[in-house]
Amino acid sequence: MPQDDTLFVTFALMKFEKYHISPEIKKSLRELEFKKPTDIQFKSIPPILKGDDVLAIAQTGTGKTAAFAIPVLSTLQNRVRKNDTGQIRAVVMVPTRELAVQITDVFKSIGKYSGLEILTVMGGVEQAAQIDQLQKGVDVLIATPGRVFDLVNQGHINLRQLEILILDEADHMLDKGFIKDIRDLIRFLPRKRQTLFFSATINETIKELAYSLVHKPVRIQISPKDPVSKNVEHAVAFVDMDDKRFYLERLIKQYPDKKILVFVRTKVRAERVFSAMGRVGLDTATMHGDKEQDDRLAVMEQFKSGEVNVLIATDVSARGIDIAGVEYVINYDLPDVAENYIHRIGRTGRGRSKGQAVSFCSEEEKPMLAEIEALLDKEVRRMEIKKSEHLETLAISEEIPNDWRSVLKEIENQENFKPKKKKR
Ligand code: ADP
Ligand code: MG
Repeated sequence: MPQDDTLFVTFALMKFEKYHISPEIKKSLRELEFKKPTDIQFKSIPPILKGDDVLAIAQTGTGKTAAFAIPVLSTLQNRVRKNDTGQIRAVVMVPTRELAVQITDVFKSIGKYSGLEILTVMGGVEQAAQIDQLQKGVDVLIATPGRVFDLVNQGHINLRQLEILILDEADHMLDKGFIKDIRDLIRFLPRKRQTLFFSATINETIKELAYSLVHKPVRIQISPKDPVSKNVEHAVAFVDMDDKRFYLERLIKQYPDKKILVFVRTKVRAERVFSAMGRVGLDTATMHGDKEQDDRLAVMEQFKSGEVNVLIATDVSARGIDIAGVEYVINYDLPDVAENYIHRIGRTGRGRSKGQAVSFCSEEEKPMLAEIEALLDKEVRRMEIKKSEHLETLAISEEIPNDWRSVLKEIENQENFKPKKKKR
């Protein structure tokens, strides 16, 4: 049976300086101003350094990346690299290319002085130089499973001497969409290896599947009763499908300087919402699986730098993405999968910052809200919208012609003057 290592601490006391990690890694942690480990780092680093398999679950934005990057880099630095050319020593599997880029950045900054070779590969990008590097050997390779599988199949890399396999967003990586790729890949890996799973969510079925792939894992779970980060305040507003765009317009206008991440259900809806905002003069960008690779990377940069403040995305951006200063998450549509609610709203309130999230729920989405609440085991706070507020929202919209606006204003005034009906 896996060991259940549940602990509730807010801040670990031991500073990174005191850890058994290399001085080179300590130096880069000082530069990053990471002084003390977060809870999940405090609990994960020792067993990973020891060589154990680990299944770690901790809320969004609590520093899971460094929780595996620090001990993995330190371990690789301490061990002697085999002289064989083309050895890949550790692979980090992630669900999206944006996440691969982000995690590569984390590994590169923590491993800045380690002398280790860190690389990400992705489709649609100039490959010759990357393949050259892969054939020389790489200490840490970060990629989506499909990409790694292609490289193995094409004979560009061999994973027979892999030391550590890491699955970030592990429940998703072991779920329907990815499990086949993962299983195919595992056939190419040595049986004796260290395997690490990290995620903010996991269900019983996936947990069993994860255990079947490893040897006596150490299980670490922080705050298992509440999967939503304490830093995120979240609520739901009941809004008709056809009115959602007016509410989004109002929110964007209300917070012109805030970084807002808007989640929609499909690629087509992302483009539609983008056009609707464009019609009322609001500058936004979209992010979804139909965009070219270069576009996807450029859009992420624009959103990061603040060149655009509103990003309309599908669930490709729900998991793992860490962008500083996202203050608001709007679920323009509820997600198709309840877990994604936790991941989406977890794009705000990261590290020590606070964030807000609101979901627009139409009549037909109420069953999904019920599923989300069942998963959270609590009710999501209701945001009440008064009739007058609703009319005001419509009135604010640039989309509604001016004469219509004055009519609405009149109706609203009449409403205000109406004698209140007695409650029955
Ligand atoms: P998770 O994967 O748990 O959602 P990330 O690994 O993306 O979270 O980290 C969230 C944020 O916390 C990042 O911006 C990261 O730089 C920051 N962070 C991680 N560890 C520390 C630490 N020990 N001290 C300060 N900030 C940290
Ligand atoms: Mg993460």
